[in-house]
Amino acid sequence: MESILVLTHADESGTALSKGSLEAVTAGRELSARLGAELTIGIVAKEASGAAAQVVGAAKILLAVHGEAFAQARFASDAAACEALCRAAQAAIVVAPGSSRFARVMAAVAHRMGGSIDTHITAVGSADGVEATRWFYRQRIEAVVSREKHPWFLLVDAGTHAAFEGGAGQVQVEQIVVDLPEMRTNVTGMRAPKQDAQTIRPDAKLLFVAGAGWTKKQPDGQIHVEQAGELILKFLKGSGASLGSSKSLVDQGGEGNSVLPFLTHLNQVGQTGSTPRHAKGLSTCCHGEEPHVVGWRFIGERRAVSLDANCGWTRGKADVVYVADAFEVIGKVNALLESKAAPSS
Ligand SMILES: Cc1cc2nc3c(=O)[nH]c(=O)nc-3n(C[C@H](O)[C@H](O)[C@H](O)COP(=O)(O)OP(=O)(O)OC[C@H]3O[C@@H](n4cnc5c(N)ncnc54)[C@H](O)[C@@H]3O)c2cc1C
Repeated sequence: MESILVLTHADESGTALSKGSLEAVTAGRELSARLGAELTIGIVAKEASGAAAQVVGAAKILLAVHGEAFAQARFASDAAACEALCRAAQAAIVVAPGSSRFARVMAAVAHRMGGSIDTHITAVGSADGVEATRWFYRQRIEAVVSREKHPWFLLVDAGTHAAFEGGAGQVQVEQIVVDLPEMRTNVTGMRAPKQDAQTIRPDAKLLFVAGAGWTKKQPDGQIHVEQAGELILKFLKGSGASLGSSKSLVDQGGEGNSVLPFLTHLNQVGQTGSTPRHAKGLSTCCHGEEPHVVGWRFIGERRAVSLDANCGWTRGKADVVYVADAFEVIGKVNALLESKAAPSS
């Protein structure tokens, strides 16, 4: 019988588990239920008791590595912590979140354990032994992988499983002592763009896509790029949506044209861009051509605002299309968001 270890880590608070970790717990639980295998959860955190309380009832055995050294994401301490948890659990399958913190160390941990690793896993099945599913070639080919070499580490992509929600109750955690090597790196602080400037938000419920239409001549014969930028940023701030873009819009920067300064190629959605996962998507000023829409594969409900009643979205690619001027529509939506956010007097 396979035994399974789910490795988890705390979020920036140092005491609560990250959302990706709770998703990995769900993936591990589902697999252990199907295989009838023993499940262990390993926690890496500054302070493990709060994190452990979040997974009450998830697994029989809880192991934790905690302390000031594990407050920060750092290769040497994180790799040592994960290795110690793996040695303590002796599991054949190790499920972990594909977060930047764990993605950085897990290949090394797999190597130290003499195992194998696969990343970007979207589903873990068990038809004939354990099988992991992942996409290749920009989400065009779906592969089902199985491996003989154990322990087999599976880094699960964010957004592919529901986050585990535990019940209340007593929880017993076994502390694992880690022999830390000499630390050469110390994280002295974090520098991140302001919340407003950070437009790619993988955890957002809504994907808002801006198309090239925002920078094109409008019915008055003029372009209104500045107004477009203000409308889009205000919408992102009010709704908390993640910003995607069509290729045509982000490419304009390279041609010396007037563009929206907060957009980069990282925002591009589509065949040669990203394939984000969000519950809903709203496309604006975008034609809905196939190379763009292929990036919407994992978007649940799709809506679009376009002036073109004959655009790709209306030809079956969106659930709802508003044939309307996006400047007007988003202006009105922003006013509604503002009035909702304003405290009632
Ligand atoms: C190999 C290859 C790979 C590609 N990869 C990608 C990719 O990864 N991602 C991607 O996006 N594209 C990709 N493309 C390009 C893609 O085919 C389209 O050219 C591109 O998506 C078009 O962008 P758009 O819809 O924003 O612009 P346009 O086609 O110019 O459409 C603009 C739309 O805005 C509407 N509009 C204008 N003003 C308003 C207004 N006020 N209100 C509402 N609507 C308005 C217009 O009616 C029009 O429909 C690729 C193409 C190729 C050949």
